Amino acid sequence: LDVPLFAGLNGDADVSFEFFPPKTEKMEQTLWDSVVTLEPLNPRFVSVTYGAGGSTRERTHATVARIAKETPIPAAAHLTCVGASKAEIAEVAQSYWEAGVRHIVALRGDPPAEGQAFEPHPEGYNSAAELVNGLKDIAPFEISVAAYPETHPEANCPQSDLDNLKRKLDAGASRAISQFFFTAEAFFRFRDAAGAAGIDAELVPGILPVSNVAQTRKFAGMCGAEIPVWMNDLFEGLDDHPAARQLIAATVAAELCRKLYAGGVRQFHFYTLNRAELSYAICHLLGKRPSGAAQEKAA
Ligand code: FAD
Repeated sequence: LDVPLFAGLNGDADVSFEFFPPKTEKMEQTLWDSVVTLEPLNPRFVSVTYGAGGSTRERTHATVARIAKETPIPAAAHLTCVGASKAEIAEVAQSYWEAGVRHIVALRGDPPAEGQAFEPHPEGYNSAAELVNGLKDIAPFEISVAAYPETHPEANCPQSDLDNLKRKLDAGASRAISQFFFTAEAFFRFRDAAGAAGIDAELVPGILPVSNVAQTRKFAGMCGAEIPVWMNDLFEGLDDHPAARQLIAATVAAELCRKLYAGGVRQFHFYTLNRAELSYAICHLLGKRPSGAAQEKAA
């Protein structure tokens, strides 16, 4: 896409940020510093992941509740249904509602061991679409769901994965946040196919700034995202150069965002890995600037 480098990006994009629940006090401080750094960019929401099989249930709750209480940013809690009964899910969802959390990212979750087939809990939900339905009966949450531009690895085919996405949206979700991907064309193809499948809800690209390609390769296999060969080459020889890797991560992700923006995308969701700087730099390149009120508060 031939657009002038970062010119014309006037900050009209909406952004959201994803964090994971911290395990230690030190990690909690890092996470909190990141939230405070990103808050002046006025994110639409920030979300906090739920560890595999609900393993971070309390920590996710504590993190989301703190964001909801101490910042003006709308906080969203990820919630998975794997390994849980409907009653357990209802209890978790109810406690979010009581803590003032109004937005859930509803997911099925992965089977406990890699390579195993997903087995629903005998008294649980079979899929994320069923979970969305169940949550809507518990309280009028705003719900986001997951989407896979390069198709979820367990899907029978791309069309059946799109049909599944449509079921989740028809069940009451208002947007889909995508798995990470590394070429704008992958997202545009997905957006076109989703449109052809009758999906008209917001499709928000998930942006993962990659500064460690070996680590990213581990997740990518599990979640159906492809790492292009050029990305392997980009990081070659940089094992002992963390600062150079950060600069390259920002450049690659910003270039992806620029192409998405040129193709009409105005919402971006950043996988921050609890570090603010990369996402902040990319948002800056997209023209996002701290809002006056938020800036005064941060000062
Ligand atoms: P579903 O939408 O239920 O789909 C799962 C698979 O089943 C797909 O292949 C789908 O096509 C297929 N399928 C479903 N229903 C049918 C049907 N009726 N007929 C045929 N096929 C069907 N995981 C966590 O553990 N914690 C998190 O916090 C977390 N956050 C995430 C955030 C985002 C933005 C994304 C993209 C993923 C996240 N995940 C998280 C990962 C997610 O849990 C896994 O990718 C999981 O394997 C699928 O979850 P889903 O909600 O997409 O499932």
